[in-house]
Amino acid sequence: MVNRRSWRVLAGIYALALTTGTHWPKLQLGGEETPPFDKLAHAGAFGVLTLLLWRTGWFRSLPALFATAVLWCLVDEVSQAMPGLGRETSFADFFASSTGVVMALAVLWAFRPVGGWPSRIQYDRTNWAIERTLVRPASALLIAAATIAFGAIGAVAAAGIAMLFPNPMPVLLGLLGLGIGMAVGVQASIEILRRRELARLDEPICFRCGAAAGAVEFDERGNGACLQCGAALHAGQWLDPPAIRRPVLRRLLGISALAGGGIIVAGFALYLAVLALRPMSRFFLRLNEAYNALPDDARLVFDLAWVV
Ligand SMILES: [Zn+2]
Repeated sequence: MVNRRSWRVLAGIYALALTTGTHWPKLQLGGEETPPFDKLAHAGAFGVLTLLLWRTGWFRSLPALFATAVLWCLVDEVSQAMPGLGRETSFADFFASSTGVVMALAVLWAFRPVGGWPSRIQYDRTNWAIERTLVRPASALLIAAATIAFGAIGAVAAAGIAMLFPNPMPVLLGLLGLGIGMAVGVQASIEILRRRELARLDEPICFRCGAAAGAVEFDERGNGACLQCGAALHAGQWLDPPAIRRPVLRRLLGISALAGGGIIVAGFALYLAVLALRPMSRFFLRLNEAYNALPDDARLVFDLAWVV
């Protein structure tokens, strides 16, 4: 890949900063009155760590990444019990961190290449364009600006909508809007930059290693290999992929919208079922009590994980 090394350096710096933060003596996030967003911070911090670890290219499979990241959370949490730090091991923190890992893996899993070599080449091509554009400082600035701008719009919009309801929870919904806005900002800006990067390309290259591929010879079926890294190349790979036909696209969008909506409805139904079953069974009563006993932000992490 174009800049594995930068990702490795970045992951190393991030891991050092994270470990310093989680082991800083007597660190407390949030005061007595302000809700502690400590669990949310745990989930976010270890989610980002998981994504960075994946980018280093050290992991070949998602299960290996999962095992390593969860083990990391465990070691990080257990080692906080070292005397002199004034901190302690918290199972809730470990749960929050692992939830972040699971969310990051869900994203990676959703974006993994599926199908045969055409989709693998397509995946390499997308990856190459994203990594190449991230090398430019202007791209990073644009992504950061779009993330902040969309995040702010999302937060204000969601908080505004929250005020329309009888029991407004502007902070909670504002945070949700912030998250959604930021995700849209990142996705939209990267998509635009990626397309520009591919349009800028004036000669065929291998998307695996970045070497020029003008001299590669293809057999009658269009198959060839990169002269530098040996990756499979295809004569047609530099053409834009055929657009998905509209009816097919509409059906795919319909299916994913239905599935997404279905999962959220199922989540609510499950919660209502637990509420309804409380009088009948001690187990459900306990389940509900355990959930309500969680701190606010731990519940938020749990709810978020459920949605993801
Ligand atoms: Zn190559």
